[in-house]
Amino acid sequence: SLSSRLEGVFKKLKGHGKLTEKNVEEGLREVRMALLEADVHYRVAKKFIADVKARALGQEVMKSLTPGQQVVKIVNEELTRLMGESLEDLNLSGTRPVSVMLVGLQGSGKTTTSGKLAVYLKKKGKKPYLVPADVYRPAAIDQLKKLGGQIGVPVFPSETEMDPVEICDKARTAAQKAGCDVLLLDTAGRLHLDAELMAELVRIRDAVMPSDILLVADAMTGQDAVNISESFDKALDLGGVILSKMDGDARGGAALSIRAITGKPIKFIGVGEKLTQLEAFHPDRIASSILGMGDVLTLIEKAQSVMDEEKAVELEKKLRKSQFTLEDFKDQMVQIRKMGSLGDLIGMIPGMKTNKQFKNLDVDETELVRIEAIINSMTPHERSHHQVINGSRRKRIARGSGTQVQDVNRLLKNYTQVMKMIKKLNKGGIRGFGRGMLP
Ligand code: GDP
Ligand code: MG
Repeated sequence: SLSSRLEGVFKKLKGHGKLTEKNVEEGLREVRMALLEADVHYRVAKKFIADVKARALGQEVMKSLTPGQQVVKIVNEELTRLMGESLEDLNLSGTRPVSVMLVGLQGSGKTTTSGKLAVYLKKKGKKPYLVPADVYRPAAIDQLKKLGGQIGVPVFPSETEMDPVEICDKARTAAQKAGCDVLLLDTAGRLHLDAELMAELVRIRDAVMPSDILLVADAMTGQDAVNISESFDKALDLGGVILSKMDGDARGGAALSIRAITGKPIKFIGVGEKLTQLEAFHPDRIASSILGMGDVLTLIEKAQSVMDEEKAVELEKKLRKSQFTLEDFKDQMVQIRKMGSLGDLIGMIPGMKTNKQFKNLDVDETELVRIEAIINSMTPHERSHHQVINGSRRKRIARGSGTQVQDVNRLLKNYTQVMKMIKKLNKGGIRGFGRGMLP
């Protein structure tokens, strides 16, 4: 990860003194590489590096940090500042019903995202109304009508021979009649940026005065997404951006570049084709993912939401000391099941994303019963010192728990893998980010 690369660069300077021009520059070369690897636009990377350099030069290295960590800390703070500090929701201000206009190139995910936003709004107690305004592709209208049917949201009965401006205008009255309060305008896209399309979008905007105009941009297009959002923003003055297809291997560079160049917030990300796969965008997490730290914060948040506070504190202490016994393993199996699969959870840990060996770590109900039985058949000493469990002990434990020796072996193997993962997490170079959650 970037953090460990920087550690290397700054190893020479130990815990005191000022950051000099030479070592800052060496460190920033690594940062620049990480940014470009994450597909950050070169213009953005260049400006960013200059800003960090200006801030870092001559700074005292904090007592609790190494110089490498200090630079990572500055980089992280600058990234967060650039991305915006807070979550930004849809703008729904104005007289009811309000309109939210979705724009973007063909295939970027506008229609799907309209459906996702309808689901999102319904959950918040709103009454969304879907408006197909892409009259150029007949299938586009049907696609939205079908989505509306699936999620029980009314759809304006657009026809291909209608004018898109007229559709959006008439839809407002229809939505009002249907008792709806938020119109989602699914507009047409083109394969490339196009003056005619822009002109049409401007006409729609001027006719309906939407409370929010959102560009749906495909995160997989990387650097192109920057030019696209720049053009749409110039023509329409966007309220924000939704980055779709973040479930692919896009690394967040597009998010950073778009935000830096347009100054407009990323409001949501699409993380799959299903209509529930829309997530709020957490600017601070992008910083971590660009720095190569994985979604550590997401992981912790997810863990916390299902574990009660005390247990979480207890577990954190044990994780810190890597004193995680088989007894804890048993407790955690139950907790982990509540969080989704263990595989998912491990995928969020830095450096673990591509680690195939964790694929078959998922546990089912019968497996849990077996795990409990096996661990119950161990002596207290064995539970806290798994190394002593040799062949004959394994046989005894298997007999005692009504399982096979292979079951005991598998359990111990899974346990040691989890231990390894915890050790890695404890070493993971995530110190100095002021979260106070992990060492
Ligand atoms: P539009 O032309 O802008 O309306 O794009 P569509 O909504 O029709 O989406 C184009 C394709 O992208 C469809 O196959 C969608 O299922 C897919 N898609 C949209 N959003 C996402 C996403 O967040 N993740 C993934 N994996 N696919 C998406
Ligand atoms: Mg569409």
